[in-house]
Amino acid sequence: FPIEFEEALPILRKIEAAGFEAYFVGGSVRDTILGREIHDVDIATSAYPEEVKQIFDRTVDTGIQHGTVMVLDHGNGYEVTTFRTESTYQDYRRPDEVTFVRSLEEDLKRRDFTINALALSENGEITDLFSGLDDMKNHLIRAVGVPDERFNEDALRMMRAIRFSSQLDFDIEPETEGAIDRHAHLLEKIAIERIHEEFVKMMMGVRPNLGLNKMIEMGLAKHVPDFKDQETALKQLSQLPLTGLDEIQIWALFAFGFKYDQARINKFMRNWKSSNQLTEEVSKTALLLNEVAEGQAGNLELYKAGETAVVAADHLAQILSLPIEPDKLASKYKQLQIKTKRDLAISAKDLITNKVLTPGPQLGQVLNNLEQSVVENKLNNNYVELLTAAKSIKGEGSN
Ligand code: ATP
Ligand code: MG
Repeated sequence: FPIEFEEALPILRKIEAAGFEAYFVGGSVRDTILGREIHDVDIATSAYPEEVKQIFDRTVDTGIQHGTVMVLDHGNGYEVTTFRTESTYQDYRRPDEVTFVRSLEEDLKRRDFTINALALSENGEITDLFSGLDDMKNHLIRAVGVPDERFNEDALRMMRAIRFSSQLDFDIEPETEGAIDRHAHLLEKIAIERIHEEFVKMMMGVRPNLGLNKMIEMGLAKHVPDFKDQETALKQLSQLPLTGLDEIQIWALFAFGFKYDQARINKFMRNWKSSNQLTEEVSKTALLLNEVAEGQAGNLELYKAGETAVVAADHLAQILSLPIEPDKLASKYKQLQIKTKRDLAISAKDLITNKVLTPGPQLGQVLNNLEQSVVENKLNNNYVELLTAAKSIKGEGSN
């Protein structure tokens, strides 16, 4: 047992001592068998949520309507979820209502892929009802049960298949693949937030090119925002070396590849239900890339983009084979005299105390002017020099 499981064993034992069944399930079991690092340990049990809460002193109702209770133990939190079925699928999405059951088999049946449907017991025994271990050996993503039915129940599973394929470098088993082909259009029914999450995980996997190609080939790309009109660009992007991208770089690459301007980038990111912070960095990165491509990425452009976007654009410029040396933008950025207005050696207050200017719009204009000149190295970021310059700018302004 890896350490994460060792630490959680007392939880399984306590549930069993109370007369119920409990197992490790899901991603942590899969990743342990594959020798991959595990993050969260999920526990499934025959005990109902109320029963779980009675067994442990400290619990939190994190998702009690879905049967999940968080058990707190020695600084760790474990999601303990009651065996359940999801019988009443509607609108091709996972249901809001679930039915709790006492049978492990029922719980494993509702899981998406055979490699995700393994249960590991306290004594190290693996329950493998759908030959998930064989599929792991053969590097295959295979739907549990009848693939057409499973994607019809929850269309997000098609994106998950591709995500796992990229993360694990597994193929998708032919029948499962065929069913994705047939049901690709149902992706339109799924909340974009969920597609966004799976898409990013796919792009951050070890085989993003494989994933992106599959999305195109199986027709999924036609049913996610903005990609439907970009067939040519997508095919070109899928030829690039896409490994090692972070979230900002992923979206900026597509925005650049689709030749979007500022307004269209914002719409793109909104369509994909992205956070404002992500949208802002992506937009700065993609716009800086446009400038790099046009040979116009000077000090001012780097300054406006900021460090995160500069580093992202450096990486993307190499991936896109833009004519620029590695890390050129970052080293140019490092040499900027100031990184923000606060770094300017003179402040509004200084200009007022020295009676160069009085509070008002002109003050802001003069400061902007100084800021730009320092960024462009037309002035040194030096108090005396800036004070003199401010006086002369003001003089020009009043003429
Ligand atoms: P990760 O390592 O990325 O967390 P994971 O396999 O743990 O991968 P989760 O999304 O955390 O994935 O889901 C946990 C488990 O719940 C899965 O292993 C699978 O058994 C089941 N599951 C998750 N989403 C679905 C779904 N849409 N349909 C069926 N089963 C699902
Ligand atoms: Mg997980």
